[in-house]
Amino acid sequence: TVLSGSSDGTVYEPSKVVIIGAGPVGALAALYFAKGGWQVTLYELRGDLRNPENRSLNFTKSINLAISERGINGLRSVDPELTESILEEAIPMHGRMIHDNTGKQSSQKYDVHNRFIRSIDRGKLNERLLDELEKLTNVELKFNHGLKKLSLEKGEAIFDRKLSNGAFESVRVEADLFVGADGAHSQTRQHMMKYVRLNYSQEYIDSLWCEFQMPPHPLTGDFQLDPNHLHIWPRQTFMFIALPNQDKSFTCTLFMPENMFKDIVGPETLLEFFNKEFPDVVSLIGEEKLIADYLKNQKLPLISVKCNPYHYRNKCVIIGDAAHAMVPFYGQGMNCGFEDVRTLWDHISTTLTISEALESYTAERHPDCVVINDLAMKNYVEMRASVTSTGYLMKKWFQEF
Ligand code: FAD
Repeated sequence: TVLSGSSDGTVYEPSKVVIIGAGPVGALAALYFAKGGWQVTLYELRGDLRNPENRSLNFTKSINLAISERGINGLRSVDPELTESILEEAIPMHGRMIHDNTGKQSSQKYDVHNRFIRSIDRGKLNERLLDELEKLTNVELKFNHGLKKLSLEKGEAIFDRKLSNGAFESVRVEADLFVGADGAHSQTRQHMMKYVRLNYSQEYIDSLWCEFQMPPHPLTGDFQLDPNHLHIWPRQTFMFIALPNQDKSFTCTLFMPENMFKDIVGPETLLEFFNKEFPDVVSLIGEEKLIADYLKNQKLPLISVKCNPYHYRNKCVIIGDAAHAMVPFYGQGMNCGFEDVRTLWDHISTTLTISEALESYTAERHPDCVVINDLAMKNYVEMRASVTSTGYLMKKWFQEF
């Protein structure tokens, strides 16, 4: 059992933690606390995503994402076996594949030592963590519970529980520690601001994103592109990307300034645009599916959030997107959230008091998260433009030889 401390410095047994948000970061945090012997209750606004009826509720999230060593480390430190079994379902991506306007492809390796990132199904990863939590006797999962109010001095939270008839009831909950993993628009953060002088900034970039599915080859059933690359069609001010899935499809994303989306007023202008900018994509996805996906899928915003501190005394701490939502171009949002959990646990399990643990957690984590957040913003320019410049390619060439 990992011991943690009380505010007067005496070491005491782990106590009751309420985690708000059962996304990947909240679910991983629940696993750490549960394995450390805490009594864990995980509250999630939406229904259980393992129920197929609820899958469409998480419509604002990409289908797959890139997991890197940073995130894998976060998983491995709490459960190496689970990590290996999760990674069996991930697809290695050894480099970028750059697609030019003529359809020519050129590979740029990520690493001279052959290290790689992996494409993973976000929903399945989240499900695996929830399945694992369900096996533990000191964990309770509460779906359809949205945080409404946090009274941190009293150690009390109020949730709105959605009933099967659509009505809501108020649920009062007490805990020693509240962990906010409730995403970019975090209610936990919002309430914590009333207790601590929390500096906060947010920025929407002018690009939106829209998702498409590239099916397997209609005749062979195989991948239509090399599955071991992250594919990029860089076009200076916008870009299209594709990440492989286990079923041999690719999930593709168009990142583009809002005014360019507005210029696409119907199927004809959409095809005109794709035929000019991404001619190979039209045949790979198929005209009909391209149009259907574009009309069906939302064009969603991208937000970057910075705040400081991440905690309030020994009562509350925010992690993941709730603390530092970032634009996705460095592929580090979730990875960084997993690293938050590992770092937070390091502090909790080695510091005498929870106040000290949370304080040293903010002190260590905030500068790192600001840097990753800024790198993510800069990497948009790298991915959509710099990867095609001669200077960049020369630099890469020298690195590899
Ligand atoms: P979320 O995933 O947002 O989960 C928060 C949870 O809290 C949700 O389940 C939500 O329903 C719940 N919740 C919200 N409000 C309440 C409330 N009031 N009460 C209770 N529960 C609540 N990251 C990577 O590492 N690699 C990538 O390749 C990558 N690609 C991306 C591509 C795109 C297009 C986008 C948009 C993001 C990408 N990210 C990537 C970022 C990644 O998706 C996020 O960083 C990650 O989902 C954050 O996890 P989280 O658990 O902190 O928050």
